[in-house]
Amino acid sequence: MDLSVVIPLYNEEGNVRPLVSRLTETLSGLPLSWEVIIVDDGSTDGSFEILRELAAGEPRLRVVRFRRNFGQTAAFAAGFEATQGQIVVTMDADLQNDPADIPALLDKMAEGYDIVSGWRVNRQDAFLTRRLPSQIANRLAGWLTRVHLHDYGCSLKAYRLEVIRGIRLYGELHRFIPALASWMGVRIAEIPVNHEPRRSGRSKYGLGRTVRVLLDLLTLQFLLFYGTRPAHVFGSLGLVSFGLGAAMSLYLAYVKLILGQSIGSRPLLTLSVLLVIVGVQMVTMGFLGEIMVRTYHEAAGKPIYVVRETLNDPTRGTPD
Ligand code: UDP
Ligand code: MG
Repeated sequence: MDLSVVIPLYNEEGNVRPLVSRLTETLSGLPLSWEVIIVDDGSTDGSFEILRELAAGEPRLRVVRFRRNFGQTAAFAAGFEATQGQIVVTMDADLQNDPADIPALLDKMAEGYDIVSGWRVNRQDAFLTRRLPSQIANRLAGWLTRVHLHDYGCSLKAYRLEVIRGIRLYGELHRFIPALASWMGVRIAEIPVNHEPRRSGRSKYGLGRTVRVLLDLLTLQFLLFYGTRPAHVFGSLGLVSFGLGAAMSLYLAYVKLILGQSIGSRPLLTLSVLLVIVGVQMVTMGFLGEIMVRTYHEAAGKPIYVVRETLNDPTRGTPD
């Protein structure tokens, strides 16, 4: 199988038919084998009935139906679990992405990239509640994860299968797959794609998403750069805190013992005690983190590196 298109779908009854027909039209024109995997994320409208009907007439349309609404990230994860294609394309079900952009994504992939991300150059969403927060988030994401994309939020993206296989999604991290994948060393490209206003149904997200994206970004940055060495983050913070606290206590000891002044009423005393305690706690938290990292990697059989290829290795054979 060459291509799998993975689409999370939640209450999109007005969009299902045009989505599937536009997709099959585009994909049938391509010289490759393909499948479309739609993950019905617990729709409560007529979406699934329509999907059942369409799937009966098109064996290349596969449908995974959740028992309830688990969210877009879970839907992506379920879709990835089911994929067979060597290249995996993701997109939204609401037709804001244009299926006709898929061939361009594939052409770019053929140049040797592992991820090609769509960039909604003419994004058709409200400025204040959508485009502005998203622009800020893109900048922040680029800065924190060092993977600079103009449009993390665009669902229309293409991945090589092995990139998808190496990734576990939690929270709402589906937006940041390119950044998550960056730890394994990937070549990423961006191409401009179409974007249309939503014609049917409503957006499933509001402004609350901004806060969650921000927290996800912090988690991501921590995992990317300190995921295998938590003692370095907590330890450095802890040592700084402990050092400052210890210096203050020494100064107070000097004031009390040498100068003979009373120190009981000085705010500095409270501060120094606080800093020393926080410092010790941070360092021990780092140690706990180290133990958890070891458990995590060893229990999950998850190596801390990814090999691209080996030469003359008798145990692995040579790549073709
Ligand atoms: N979606 C989903 N589960 C959810 C929320 C959304 O599968 O809990 C799907 C939705 O059907 C759509 C895509 O995710 O295909 C993007 O959602 P939406 O269009 O509401 O987001 P926006 O484009 O407004 O950012
Ligand atoms: Mg949308």
